[in-house]
Amino acid sequence: MTIPPRSLSTWARNISPSPTLAVDAKAKAMIAAGQDVCSFAAGEPDFDTPEHIKEACIAALRAGKTKYGPTPGMDSLRTAIADSYATNYGLKVLPAQVVVSAGGKYSCYLAILATCSPGDEVIIAAPYWVSYPEMAKLAGAIPRFVLTDDTNGFKLTPAQLEQAITPQTRLLVLNSPSNPTGAVYTRAELAALVAVAVRHNLYILSDEMYEHLVYDGVTPTCVATLSPEAEARTITVAGFSKTYSMTGWRLGMLVAPAAVAKACVELQSQMSSNPNSFAQYGALAALTEKDQTAASLKAMLAAFDRRRKYLHAELNRIPGITCLLAQGAFYLFPNISSFGLKDTEFCARLLEQEKVASVPGSAFGAEGYLRLSYATSDEIIRKGVERLTRFCAGLKRQS
Ligand SMILES: *Cc1c(COP(=O)(O)O)cnc(C)c1O
Repeated sequence: MTIPPRSLSTWARNISPSPTLAVDAKAKAMIAAGQDVCSFAAGEPDFDTPEHIKEACIAALRAGKTKYGPTPGMDSLRTAIADSYATNYGLKVLPAQVVVSAGGKYSCYLAILATCSPGDEVIIAAPYWVSYPEMAKLAGAIPRFVLTDDTNGFKLTPAQLEQAITPQTRLLVLNSPSNPTGAVYTRAELAALVAVAVRHNLYILSDEMYEHLVYDGVTPTCVATLSPEAEARTITVAGFSKTYSMTGWRLGMLVAPAAVAKACVELQSQMSSNPNSFAQYGALAALTEKDQTAASLKAMLAAFDRRRKYLHAELNRIPGITCLLAQGAFYLFPNISSFGLKDTEFCARLLEQEKVASVPGSAFGAEGYLRLSYATSDEIIRKGVERLTRFCAGLKRQS
């Protein structure tokens, strides 16, 4: 007689796998099987990593930089990151406040593990990046959602934040520019939210992964620069993946008050050790070979901006769809609620009938929308919009 195996852990049973990665994987599998899919599902730039960054990594590999290194990342890279905050934002950061990790996603998780205990509450504005609630749950904390919508630009207000705070609230998550909406908060809007967080003594996780991907002359805000009180409680997460097309490299970073940074290093020392040794040389080149990096970024931003405007105009031409012109990241988040279909149903049928891949808003905690990534070719965007237009014309509108 065999004894049945024990059930899996609470963590394993409660985790929801990433829906964005799942849609993207499905679209890629359909393409690999020879189907003519127009995918708006990508969560990464469609550009290759700039050559000078790759070369620095190759040179590091050749030079034998293949061993364990310092757990928080190599000194030269931490110093370059600290310097970049002084240059970009006038923020004084010590290298000891910088922790380099295996991706910005992992940096977010470290920040949550370092600040939240079981039972603590984490305030997350919806639509949210899919990993925040799951990471909070993995720390035993409780995600508390505050719903925003396109009538207020998908922005959390100080009054909403104030209402969501309880004695158990520990952490506020901010993400500007936002994935999935592309919304960029103004400095004044962030200052007002931070004032509430300070008054209630909350930690702030500010995910600034898309800080350099902004349009229309918008300047991104580094939340830690808003006030000394903000700086003392903010963990800034940023990275290389989106800005330098380095998603596969698995390298990210956080900047935190010294005590929090130290805790993150200790957690990392038991969970993953140092970030990839030779990848860090590529990241260092991204930050120090500034002219080449700036040229690559400029070219990518020009392409994104052109596609953003085109896709936005075309979406708003489709009867039944309304879409805000987002000013950051590489996503648009059109409202499709007038069709009276669940967004999951809308996406499934759109993929089935027209071979157009998109992610439903409900994956981000906001029913009634689609996330469309324009980090794909002009040709696919043009063809995809054509198909989407035809698909919508075949639906009955409710309102
Ligand atoms: C892509 C992304 C990340 C993490 O990126 P990594 O590839 O892990 O560096 C973090 N936050 C948001 C909002 C993202 O879109």
